[in-house]
Amino acid sequence: MHEMSIAMNIIDIAIEQAKKEKADRIVEVELEIGTLAGIEFESLNFAMEISVKNTMLEKSAIHINKIQAIAECIDCGKRFKTENLFNNCQKCKSYNTKLIKGKELKVKSIVID
Ligand SMILES: [Zn+2]
Repeated sequence: MHEMSIAMNIIDIAIEQAKKEKADRIVEVELEIGTLAGIEFESLNFAMEISVKNTMLEKSAIHINKIQAIAECIDCGKRFKTENLFNNCQKCKSYNTKLIKGKELKVKSIVID
């Protein structure tokens, strides 16, 4: 499962950060994940639950912020929600659009003690 390696990667980042700050405990980890990041949210939740066992994150609160994908039309400037990488503009129907949000996959913040 692709989400499992992502979960482990997130945990590594958090622990590395905590060690750098000489913290004993990680209270909270906040993630930002775009709806077009290629992540199954349910699988990631499940993967996180399993992967945190016996790590510093076992008792940490893990928040996953879902970032709604937004595309922008280059021709008319209209911004719209999207569930696909390639779309045409909802207003002028142009295919000249770009994704401006929705591919995030990052640790936004870590609260340590
Ligand atoms: Zn347009």
